[in-house]
Amino acid sequence: MHYVYGPVPSRRLGFSLGVDIVPYKTCILDSIYCQLGRTLRKTIRRKSYPQIDAVCREVREALGAYERIDYITFSGSGEPTLNSDIGVLINEIKKMTSIPVVVVTNGTSLFREEVQKDLEKADIVMPSLDAASQEMFERINRPYGSLKIGTVIDGLATFKRRYQGKMWLEIMLVQGLNDSPNALPSFKKAISQIRPDKIYLNTVVRPPAEAYAKPLSGDNLSGDKMMSVRSYLDGQCDVIAEFHEHTDGQAKNVEEAIVEMAKRRPVTLRDIARVVGASEVNAEKLVSTLLESGMLAERLYKGEKYFSYLAKTPRT
Ligand code: SF4
Repeated sequence: MHYVYGPVPSRRLGFSLGVDIVPYKTCILDSIYCQLGRTLRKTIRRKSYPQIDAVCREVREALGAYERIDYITFSGSGEPTLNSDIGVLINEIKKMTSIPVVVVTNGTSLFREEVQKDLEKADIVMPSLDAASQEMFERINRPYGSLKIGTVIDGLATFKRRYQGKMWLEIMLVQGLNDSPNALPSFKKAISQIRPDKIYLNTVVRPPAEAYAKPLSGDNLSGDKMMSVRSYLDGQCDVIAEFHEHTDGQAKNVEEAIVEMAKRRPVTLRDIARVVGASEVNAEKLVSTLLESGMLAERLYKGEKYFSYLAKTPRT
């Protein structure tokens, strides 16, 4: 499978079948916390990639192969709305199955009428918003060209008014940046303008593109600082919890499943064990083969080992 990966255990979506429709690290942003490293192709230009039939074929195969898929999620190694065929693909998948379709997006292209139209058939849209001031937007997300955060926030609010599905907004908090007393009031204002159905607070739990992008205090998702941000935002947010559900594993070709997952985010032995239905000891054996073959690289972050795909394209 080239475009479809998983099902992977997801913090919010249970078992999520991923659909990845843009080339590796093609994005409008170059976020300092990005778990895939620095952006290789920073662009705002949408284009059609010649892959509709292949993506549909792979989704159909996965639907026949796996017992449990809770969501089908456009996500992966870049910004999915940069593929101008995303609307067609959502419609094609909706014809195949009643499993809900989700789009994970950085939200920066939702001010465009054609993107709003493309996403209208998705069941859930999950945009992120890491800044509500231009200065913070540039420091955390390093956007393409002169993109303005005001345009992004207005676009999210306009989309929410016309959209029939659910919007779950994610805020990634970075220590010493958007968690400051100066930054939080502008978030509150932006949230009241956008009116998402849910808000999730996250922090830098996986290895970031820039070492100075640090998680909020406590180094865990229930740290005091996360809770104080949550209560400042009127407790209307959930702090994202790690996925704890047991699974017997569904992957058929385990090595391929590990590599495909690691292409989209750095994975831990726990992630791998869940996907392939193995113990962590056996997951470590599988990973050691992939490390030896040069497919994966190992990195220690906050005391935990993460395994990333070794991309062939050099990073900028
Ligand atoms: S975190 Fe998402 S939006 Fe930010 S650079 Fe990485 S892929 Fe793009």
